[in-house]
Amino acid sequence: MKRLFNLLRLLFRYSIIILKSVFSGLRNLIRIINGKKVLSIPFYGLLAFALYVVLLIQFSGDPTFNKTFENKRINDITQLNPIQVNRIIKPKTINEIIYTIKTTTGPISIGGGKYSMGGQTAFENSLHIDMRSFNKVVKLDTIKKQITVQTGIRWRDLQKIIDPYNLSVKIMQTYSNFTVGGAISVNCHGRYIGHGPIISSVLELKIITASGEIIKANRQVNQDIFNAAIGGYGGIGVIAEATLQLADNVKVERSTQLLEAADYNTYFDSNIKNKEEVIFQNGDLYPPDYNKIRSVVWKKNRKTIN
Ligand SMILES: Cc1cc2nc3c(=O)[nH]c(=O)nc-3n(C[C@H](O)[C@H](O)[C@H](O)COP(=O)(O)OP(=O)(O)OC[C@H]3O[C@@H](n4cnc5c(N)ncnc54)[C@H](O)[C@@H]3O)c2cc1C
Repeated sequence: MKRLFNLLRLLFRYSIIILKSVFSGLRNLIRIINGKKVLSIPFYGLLAFALYVVLLIQFSGDPTFNKTFENKRINDITQLNPIQVNRIIKPKTINEIIYTIKTTTGPISIGGGKYSMGGQTAFENSLHIDMRSFNKVVKLDTIKKQITVQTGIRWRDLQKIIDPYNLSVKIMQTYSNFTVGGAISVNCHGRYIGHGPIISSVLELKIITASGEIIKANRQVNQDIFNAAIGGYGGIGVIAEATLQLADNVKVERSTQLLEAADYNTYFDSNIKNKEEVIFQNGDLYPPDYNKIRSVVWKKNRKTIN
């Protein structure tokens, strides 16, 4: 222990001696430089340049270089269409949507469930409005069988709300995870027999235009806007609210039948078309020869389940 202490003391003493001689050497050097103009000008010039370089390195560049940025990449369900947007908002109120649109000068994109496959929900560097948190029921009229919703609501959530009233969505796609706004904006279709695309069940829309104005559109008022917004892929504005006609809840029973493709038209005309009891139907065509079709039918069922 004592030997270690002596060693440290020796090291300390020599360090002091070395520092002292370096310091006095530097002092002498500066004295010499200061005494001769021919040396002092380049010396201090070099010193100032070195200081400038150090400061430049210290304060130049992107100060946020090390920051982790918020993920602003929008993608659809396929994950094949990543698009970098400028900002993402998830509004909960109509005023938030209006304020954001009014205070934005660049492009705006709108996303529902983001199940459309081809980058329709985003635009490079745009303000992206993610509608999924704007998803409340505004009004339910069980007598008229009509519902007004904020369009970020998904079909499955809407169905849960109306099912206890023995009501059902009149027209939607084959899956229930799409939003009402996304479905209306592509004018989706289902497998319903006797119904075309969703437009025939849409009664009214509340649309926010690019100037932040709210427009009510239906078959009497602003009909051109109503028609353009349905299937308009968000090009007309943000569909904030939609009033939909509902249908009675009915029990259905699924059955299938394998047919020769050549017989399908005759089968369809006599068994499916104009048959009031058929609610949904689709035909699955089988590879590799595509000469067989399986008809899948959902018919009204009045059986009681025990
Ligand atoms: C597995 C699968 C099955 C499908 N089955 C069917 C089917 O049976 N029938 C059918 O017709 N289609 C079907 N589709 C397509 C589907 O209907 C569309 O992709 C639909 O747009 C999905 O809804 P979304 O909420 O995901 O819309 P998104 O993909 O989010 O948006 C679709 C378009 O609508 C715009 N948009 C979204 N919300 C609003 C809003 N509130 N206001 C204005 N514009 C808005 C978006 O900008 C975008 O252009 C299917 C797709 C998949 C992946």
